[in-house]
Amino acid sequence: MSGTPPMSTNWPDGTETVHRSVVVIGGGQAGLSMSWWLTHRGIDHVVLERDRVASEWRNRRWDSFCLVTPNWQCRLPGFPYPGDEPDGFILRDEIVQYLEKFVASFDPPLIEGVSATRLRGRSDGTFEIRTDRGTITADQVVVATGPYQVPRIPRMAERITDRITQLHSSAYKNPEQLPEGAVLVVGTGQSGCQIAEDLHLAGRTVHLATGTAPRVARWYRGRDVVAWLDDMGTYTRGIDQFDDADAVRFRANHYVTGRDGGHDIDLRAFAVQGMALHGRLTGISNGRLTFGPDLRSNLDNADQVSESIKDSIDAYIEKAGIDAPVEDRYVPVWEPGPEADDPADLSLEDAGITTVIWSTGYGRDDRWVELPIFNGRGYPTHDRGVTSQPGLYFIGLPWQHTWGSGRFAGVAADAEHLAKKIVATRRSAVVTGLHWLAGTPQETYPTDDDWSAPRTVA
Ligand SMILES: Cc1cc2nc3c(=O)[nH]c(=O)nc-3n(C[C@H](O)[C@H](O)[C@H](O)COP(=O)(O)OP(=O)(O)OC[C@H]3O[C@@H](n4cnc5c(N)ncnc54)[C@H](O)[C@@H]3O)c2cc1C
Repeated sequence: MSGTPPMSTNWPDGTETVHRSVVVIGGGQAGLSMSWWLTHRGIDHVVLERDRVASEWRNRRWDSFCLVTPNWQCRLPGFPYPGDEPDGFILRDEIVQYLEKFVASFDPPLIEGVSATRLRGRSDGTFEIRTDRGTITADQVVVATGPYQVPRIPRMAERITDRITQLHSSAYKNPEQLPEGAVLVVGTGQSGCQIAEDLHLAGRTVHLATGTAPRVARWYRGRDVVAWLDDMGTYTRGIDQFDDADAVRFRANHYVTGRDGGHDIDLRAFAVQGMALHGRLTGISNGRLTFGPDLRSNLDNADQVSESIKDSIDAYIEKAGIDAPVEDRYVPVWEPGPEADDPADLSLEDAGITTVIWSTGYGRDDRWVELPIFNGRGYPTHDRGVTSQPGLYFIGLPWQHTWGSGRFAGVAADAEHLAKKIVATRRSAVVTGLHWLAGTPQETYPTDDDWSAPRTVA
């Protein structure tokens, strides 16, 4: 433990002064990486985690989940992947263990079971963080509350009868959890494709409504594509080197998997094996699903992106004079029939669909951050995580600075960058005299405005 002693997990009873130079909100890999750097720079701080360390990995991933990124990309600060399969893909529970071991490696000042419900600025330039356990003040604050926060489900879901089970991908665990019958998976990002495969391999009948997400091959010319791209500098390219930074930040991830040692996700191959592929789900009415005429283009575009990545690897190999085995290119194993070029519809009942899994992504909810730093669409404006509010930072945003920012690969570098900023803007005078103000456990945003007076714990 470094810096000043952390608050204990038993809350102070109202007599302890609770102020930290830095408060980090969120105890996932981003918040913990931040804490590692602050610890090693001797900055007193605390990490507030509303649940437990690694809660996203514990609670919102399915049972067969494994990383898509190779283990060697697990490079948390001072704690690279410790196992003997650097080219493998650790499973969900191993990811949790990796994070737990990371915590044990430096014993961060972490308090679990505390939810930050409001963040405001104070007239002296410090911050006040209201939590469900009381209020804490800080000179500087790092928001590390995760890249994938609020499950997004389109409103058309409301038109599905309650006889059909509906869930978001974040709540999917395994095929046995679902009622018998066919399953409609909506969305072909990472989650949708992998969940569709999980169900397919379990022998379930799967309907998959495709989207425009690109795909990438797992292996090419003797190596993991990720290894080639790493050598090519793809993962250290800053967002400031893109002309379309906003678009890059919100683009869907390429689909591929680390399952069973890693392989491509080829939806055409699934179709050959009996999975029913559809275009984009465009509507639901009277028990009928309607799909757009875009299945062909969705598959073609995904393949085209995958092949163009191979083109760039070929060019790199040639330029660098690398002796790598030559590999045949992908040949589509299935084409949609001509009917796919028209809008289509399908009766949920006729198709025997008893479950819909919305793999339609996540949104952010930063409304508890009551500071004028947002861009009008709910996204925090920042430069490499540094906001326009002095002393307020974000970490773990997708493409915060590089491809790896929202992943294991790049979060350590972002944390180091922010730690330097935090040290540079550190206050010399420690603000004292603010006492722990007990709040009520039930309180969540939005709350009343009269929150400055001390309260007693109910
Ligand atoms: C399906 C899926 C697959 C992924 N696969 C990979 C992969 O293969 N490789 C890879 O590198 N990355 C992957 N990622 C991306 C990324 O690594 C994870 O999303 C990771 O969880 C991000 O870590 P984080 O610390 O930024 O956020 P999180 O893990 O989301 O942690 C944020 C923490 O903040 C806490 N919190 C939130 N709000 C509050 C609050 N108000 N007060 C207190 N605490 C709060 C949460 O409880 C949570 O523990 C994947 C993501 C998803 C969704």
